[in-house]
Amino acid sequence: MTVKNLQIKDKVIVDRQDFQQLFDVLQQQEYELVGPTIVEGAIAYETISAVEDLPIGWTDEQDGGTYRLKPRSDQALFGYAVGPHSWKKYLFPPRLQLWKAERQGQEMKITTPEPEIPKRAFIGVRACELNAIAIQDQVFTQGEAVDSHYQTRRDRVFIVAVNCSQAGGTCFCVSMNTGPQAKMGFDLGVTEIIDGDQHYFVVEVGSESGAQVLSKIVYSYATEQQQQQAMEVVAATAKQMGRTMDTENIKELLYNNIEHSRWDDVANRCLTCANCTMVCPTCFCSTVEDTTDLTGDNAERWRHWDSCFTMDFSYLHGGSVRSSAKSRYRQWMTHKLASWMDQFGTSGCVGCGRCITWCPVGIDITAEVKAIQDSQPLRGS
Ligand code: SF4
Ligand code: SF4
Repeated sequence: MTVKNLQIKDKVIVDRQDFQQLFDVLQQQEYELVGPTIVEGAIAYETISAVEDLPIGWTDEQDGGTYRLKPRSDQALFGYAVGPHSWKKYLFPPRLQLWKAERQGQEMKITTPEPEIPKRAFIGVRACELNAIAIQDQVFTQGEAVDSHYQTRRDRVFIVAVNCSQAGGTCFCVSMNTGPQAKMGFDLGVTEIIDGDQHYFVVEVGSESGAQVLSKIVYSYATEQQQQQAMEVVAATAKQMGRTMDTENIKELLYNNIEHSRWDDVANRCLTCANCTMVCPTCFCSTVEDTTDLTGDNAERWRHWDSCFTMDFSYLHGGSVRSSAKSRYRQWMTHKLASWMDQFGTSGCVGCGRCITWCPVGIDITAEVKAIQDSQPLRGS
């Protein structure tokens, strides 16, 4: 049964066999679909077109410095946690040309590329990732200077969120109050239910656009029991977190321990490779690079992701102000968990666990916080 007058917060059932219709309707509305798919042994976000492109029947095992896929015992479409990619690569591209210049005789012609930005539908955005997008929205669009590149891309996104049915080994969204349930910032919010031979999705309407898309596919209203089942899936996931972080007074803890010996300890392990910042869905640092060709007739200016772990990033007045691994790791973690609050009013960490999984030496932000907490006289006693 399909009813046309859907309202925000309505919850409906879409059967597994009808789920492709959601993809079809979005593509008919000229959305490019982006979602999880298997790429080189990991679940990454890429352009997809059909439900079969999702990692059906696969899950992941994650721990510090460890990630591997393994088959599930069912045919779940979303039965895994987040992988190395985040949605920021579509909203805040890793490389972006700002302008190019061409010598034409005695003149210099400067042009600004205006690429056509596609409408994109993000399929399978997790609760922690919705929070990360909200954080980047604030950084890029809610300050004095609005980043038009980000804003244009963001305005063209349709979000299909997915409530997590399984936590990853490095997840700690419950500690950061960012998951595992998607509560805001989506057009449609999906909970996947597999119960015996039943396989369906409880879909919550999150926006007018979501209602409009959903009205074009086959659905029925969710019963109380089905809604309860969806809530139980999320509640069970919340109990499976691979990691926890005690965030009470964390800002004061880090500000009061700038010279803690743990920073030397972590510096002995940290390779300053910057992986943690590349995979982090909230890290937003970039740099600008100018290039010229050998003729000297053409020049280009590019913006690309940078990291507080590189020496050059803090190069000021003839030297780097953060020349040691200790100072760079401390800067990163203290910014994420303390000074971000002063700067933007929220934590800079959503507990997705990527920085733990994708650190080649398995440095774990939750363990680093705990080590400093445990050393405090009142806490450790
Ligand atoms: S700091 Fe680590 S856990 Fe927190 S949001 Fe970034 S990648 Fe995720
Ligand atoms: S903490 Fe890990 S991922 Fe981050 S820079 Fe150090 S070694 Fe690389």
